[in-house]
Formats: sequence, C-alpha cells, structure tokens
Amino acid sequence: MFTGDYHTHTRFSDGKGSVLENALAANAVGLKEIAITDHGFRIPTMSFGKFLKAKRECREAEKMAGVRVLAGVEANLISDEGDLDVKEEELPEIEFLIAGFHKFAIPKNVRTFFDTYAVTYFNGAIRTGKKAIERNTRALVRAIERYPLNAVAHLNHAMKVNVFEVAQAAAKKGVLIELNAKHLSDLEGEWNALFQSGANFILSSDAHSPFAVGKIEGALQKALSEGIPAERIVNYIGD
Ligand SMILES: [Zn+2]
Ligand SMILES: [Zn+2]
Repeated sequence: MFTGDYHTHTRFSDGKGSVLENALAANAVGLKEIAITDHGFRIPTMSFGKFLKAKRECREAEKMAGVRVLAGVEANLISDEGDLDVKEEELPEIEFLIAGFHKFAIPKNVRTFFDTYAVTYFNGAIRTGKKAIERNTRALVRAIERYPLNAVAHLNHAMKVNVFEVAQAAAKKGVLIELNAKHLSDLEGEWNALFQSGANFILSSDAHSPFAVGKIEGALQKALSEGIPAERIVNYIGD
C-alpha cells in the first residue's frame, strides 16, 4: 500500500484540478497524504503569492477530504551554482520541496542560459556531451547541498546527469530520489546506479489531473523488477 503521493499539480500551475479535487482523489484511492507541488516561481505566471493562496486551500482541503495535504513546490534549477527559484525567506513556508530541471523556467543569468539551456534544446535531443553531463551533475548536487530538499524530481528528464553521483549526494543528505511515473523511461540503464548509490526513493504520479493522483502502481512494479528493494521506497508499505 502507498502512504501518499507527493508530486501533484493543480490549476495553480498547469494542472486541471483544484487542491480540493486532488485531495479528494487521494482519499478515494486510499492515500493518507498528498503534496500539492505546483511549479517554482520563475516559471512565467507562477509566484510565491500564488503558493500562499494554494497553501490556504491545502488547509481547507484537508479538513474536507480527510487526508493530510502538504503545501509543496516543484522548484526549478536555474543556474550552474545550484540556485533554485525559491528564496531563502520563502523556504520555511514550504512543506514539501521537490526540485528538478524544467526548460520553461527563467534562468538566473544569460551565461546559465547558454550553458544549461543550449545543451538541452540543441544538443540534448541528439546527444549530451560528457562536459554537459558533468556540469549538470554539479549544478544539481549543489542544489541538494544548499537547500532543504525533500526529493529530487525526475532525474535525467530534459537534463542528463550522472545519476550515480546525484543519487549518492542525495543519499548523504537524506534527500529522496523521485521515481516519477510519467518519466521512468529516462532512468533506463540507470537502475543499478540508483541501487548502488544508497539513496532512498519516493514514487510519485506527477499528476496533472485529479484522475492521475495516486496512480503509481506501475512505477512500483517497474522499480521492483529493476532490483530496487521495497524497503528503500519510503511511501510504499509492502503487504
Ligand atoms: Zn517536473
Ligand atoms: Zn511536476
């Protein structure tokens, strides 16, 4: 059984449902907890003010839906130095912080634009060079070291990294590696590295509609079949 789904979107970003609808869906599939993780604040249309509004809805939704609703953020990596698009003073308000790379976040500066974005847009589609992978890896490891992250989102999606190094850094800091039901194919060939890293994992749906909340059974089966032990998946309790 699953305890929770910690990566879901609502209409506050690019999801289709409300906070309450996601919470009700979580209850309907037997979860005890859900995190609302709309996008970080350098995605156009997103802001900390919107997050606070979502957070108030989380408090109301948990009363109505009977599940715990965490007010989270899916923050964006926006520089080679590991900057995320959440400010230090905003962090205490965030109840679940997951971070990953997204093309549509505005980078911190132009240099980052060329360093990181050129790779994913032009080079990444064909091949990602060794240098780019090293740089991406360093950036993500720095984010893991600098921020109070709960989890790292969809490794290797849109930005190739050295999965072993990132997962090892995550393990050291007690940060979870997300196994994202929508992007598991990006981990093809990396399962042994994930296992060897010593990291723990969290399964998530990355639901963009209430219907997809908690739909993580397929991802669980895939992870188990690739040799990830059930006891290292923190939101799964074996029967
Ligand atoms: Zn994402
Ligand atoms: Zn997401």
